[in-house]
Parts: sequence; structure tokens; C-alpha cells
Amino acid sequence: MKSKTHTLHKARLKNNCPICFGTDGLELTFTQKEKDTPLFKTPATQIDEKLYCYTCNNTIYPVNWTEDIERVFDYNKKIAETNKQFLKVKPLFYILVIMAIVMVAAIVYILIPTI
Ligand SMILES: [Zn+2]
Repeated sequence: MKSKTHTLHKARLKNNCPICFGTDGLELTFTQKEKDTPLFKTPATQIDEKLYCYTCNNTIYPVNWTEDIERVFDYNKKIAETNKQFLKVKPLFYILVIMAIVMVAAIVYILIPTI
């Protein structure tokens, strides 16, 4: 079984980095994992978020977030939610459903004698 990670939304923040205090290095990334089976693509219900500073090359964990970062985070999370991936059914699923219907129809045709 394969799994993929979708990037739902990315945002560069103008907030101060809590570690290096730079104002142009922070980037928020929202991702969603997806399991790939032969019949379905099933995305995880949970969105993963990451705040990374390209100035000091650190991942900024929520414990270090300032109130301003939290506010910007909430705003961007709403955008990410609208890009969320949902369950996708693949063509193989429809083929199996059609085959099942054809088989049931054939069995009914054989078992019920026509008058
Ligand atoms: Zn930094």
C-alpha cells in the first residue's frame, strides 16, 4: 500500500521568528496524508501543520508560538481546510460494481425460468 502526502496550503509569514527574530523566514505548511489502495484513495481526516524558519533553519513548535503567529495560523488553517482532500473512488471500483451487477443479472436470468 502506497501513501502520499498532499500539500494543502503554504504561507509565508511576516511574523517575527521566536528563535532568531527574523521577519522573512517563517513558512507555514499544511499537509494531509493519503493512503492509496487499488480501489480507493483515502485521505487522513487530520491535517498536519508545520512552521519552519528558513532564516535559522528550525522547525518552530507550537510551544514557542507567539499570539500573533497563532492568529495567522488560525486564518491559514481555514484556507487549508477548504483545500482538504476527500475519499476518491478509482475506476477499478466502478468496474467491479458493474461486474457484480452483470453477474447478479446473469444468475437471476438462469435461475428464474422464463414462461
Ligand atoms: Zn528563525
